[in-house]
Amino acid sequence: MLDEQINKLVSEALARVEGAADPGALEAVRVDVLGRKGSLAQFSKEFGKLSADERPRAGQALNAAKASLEAAFEGKKAAFDRSVLESRLRAEWVDLTLPAPGPRPGSLHPVTQIQSEIEDLFTSLGFAVLDGPEVETEYHNFDALNIPPEHPARDMQDTFWLEGGNLLRTHTSPVQVRGMERLGPPLRMIAPGRTFRNEEVDASHEHTFYQLEGMMVDRNVSVAHLIYFMKTLLSAVFRREVTVRLRPGFFPFVEPGFELDVQCLICGGPGCPVCKQSGWVELLPCGLVHPNVLRMSGIDPDQWGGFAFGLGLTRLAMMRYGIDDIRLLQSGDLRFLSQF
Ligand SMILES: [Zn+2]
Repeated sequence: MLDEQINKLVSEALARVEGAADPGALEAVRVDVLGRKGSLAQFSKEFGKLSADERPRAGQALNAAKASLEAAFEGKKAAFDRSVLESRLRAEWVDLTLPAPGPRPGSLHPVTQIQSEIEDLFTSLGFAVLDGPEVETEYHNFDALNIPPEHPARDMQDTFWLEGGNLLRTHTSPVQVRGMERLGPPLRMIAPGRTFRNEEVDASHEHTFYQLEGMMVDRNVSVAHLIYFMKTLLSAVFRREVTVRLRPGFFPFVEPGFELDVQCLICGGPGCPVCKQSGWVELLPCGLVHPNVLRMSGIDPDQWGGFAFGLGLTRLAMMRYGIDDIRLLQSGDLRFLSQF
């Protein structure tokens, strides 16, 4: 009699366990059947009514029922755990063979872009790209370029002097000297690089900026060569035909020396605020290499001649992209840099 009731209870409970939709429903069934006030506990209360003969068998049956139900609950619970794990594995699956997302691709600094373009151009014209030290000797930065000791460029206010007499180079021109010393004539070279002046920083002045020096030493080099290379250079940088003019200018390391102006790229000549109504914009100093400079680097000025020019890379980048504050270039501000 009791056996039958237990069997019925077990088979009903097993069906409910099997049918539980989620862990919450399963727990409710467990409390119902195996809980302190559950249906199995009700049977235990009936024990008092049984005869002494019947009790051992009923106890065994009850224990067996309890064990089989507990096993069924555990089994179902484990199945729920597995399916939770499996759905997480499906949802959070990652294909490790795909490329990593990584940082967004960057872009080259505007000065670097112009520098690369000019290097490509001059390389195609047979020029070597030379590098030189940023910490220079006074000799290479000044003396060898025919800049005498009393010249204002040597002023403590303009130059970062180091202990021991060296200095941060104030222009890329010392690389000319090093190029002539090392390679000798004939020589075609450009030297891009970082230069330093002891400047009060404002919208148009920086203590650190970029220049590009160019030099050609050969037999019978004339101002016509200089003009040809300058026009080729500027047309490439500004991506259109440009008109240039030379005005006399004094620079100790060239003779004759010139200021090269480019016809205003904004108004094309008639005059506008950018060119201060003149139609021309002052761009770079250049000239034929001074005989003293050639001689000091061991080149005979009676046999060889040359032209040289110095280009402000920073200035050129500002002109090409219409940047009106030089401080932006070294600000490291991504809002500015990501535009290029
Ligand atoms: Zn203009």
